[in-house]
Amino acid sequence: MRRRSTKLVGALGVAALSLSTFFAPASADPPHNPGGPCLQENQNVSLASVANYADVVRELGRIERSSQGAVEVHSAGQSGEGRQLLYATVGHGPETFWLQARIHGNELHSTEAALQILDRLASGSPAAKAVREGLTVVVVPMYNPDGAEANIRQSTTPNRIDLNRDWENFAQPESVAFWKVWRSTAPTYALDMHHMSQAPVVLGTDDLNQFQIGGRSIAPSRMTDRQWLTNRQMTMASVEALEGYGVANVAHYPLIDITNAVLSRMLMGETAPPGETPLPQSATPTQGAIFYEVRSVGQKSNGQLENLFRIPAMAVLTAAADGSLAEQDVSGYDALPFARSGPCGQTG
Ligand SMILES: [Zn+2]
Repeated sequence: MRRRSTKLVGALGVAALSLSTFFAPASADPPHNPGGPCLQENQNVSLASVANYADVVRELGRIERSSQGAVEVHSAGQSGEGRQLLYATVGHGPETFWLQARIHGNELHSTEAALQILDRLASGSPAAKAVREGLTVVVVPMYNPDGAEANIRQSTTPNRIDLNRDWENFAQPESVAFWKVWRSTAPTYALDMHHMSQAPVVLGTDDLNQFQIGGRSIAPSRMTDRQWLTNRQMTMASVEALEGYGVANVAHYPLIDITNAVLSRMLMGETAPPGETPLPQSATPTQGAIFYEVRSVGQKSNGQLENLFRIPAMAVLTAAADGSLAEQDVSGYDALPFARSGPCGQTG
């Protein structure tokens, strides 16, 4: 019989954890291309350096234990396969900031970036302290642990669906669980971290586009004026933070209008899981919700990928905490370039 460890997850309710799922075979031998832009069909991809579910459990526990009470780890519930849906809270400020990663299981490095940001926010630095005083930050490092372990975009069971298209139907337990956390923590701001799977270039140039900014997952006409302004302010605070980081070559994400995405429904309200009461848009707490898409360039560049998530995210957190976000100039928003995707390695 498999022996259960009671030390894996610190203050978590360990009784509910199924350790047999920590080391599912899928994590060792990914059946799918993890989404890098230049991987060849038969290329051998090692995921040894990518944070898996067991790493998330261990790292959250370590950060919580060493945080001297600043970080609390919770479970929102269980995934379709029975993994804990873990999130951490750090800070005690009056406004809540939601930071989520890896809703698409095969978008690898956002989890590591989220854990790094949490670690940084838990530290004794003056910058971390300022964020903790201004904000309560909710960090979801692996929204889709089943998809992450299987190295696929979607959930696995009971439905194999895109969890970022499920905040209208709530067909998956992950969606129901995290909607309830959103409802109870009432975040003013939300930031969702993704990987691009293609190799775009900035339109009109040959510059490899490493970072796309998603200032809108829905048409601005679906947002209140304040939400649309806050989204652009979060966008420009992110872009300005990356200006000193030359490799980014920032571009807009394509202008999508997807009402069943997580961020979209945080802004719009009006949907809820069965048995819960939807909030009208006039009562939704969320006033700004944007996403990042970082280009996947392979495991040799992990540090760079994580920087591309962490640098702008820390800038937005800092600006939200000290109030300067509300003064952020957005006049450069419309002038940001778009990107053009092509076959891998081709820029023409
Ligand atoms: Zn994604």
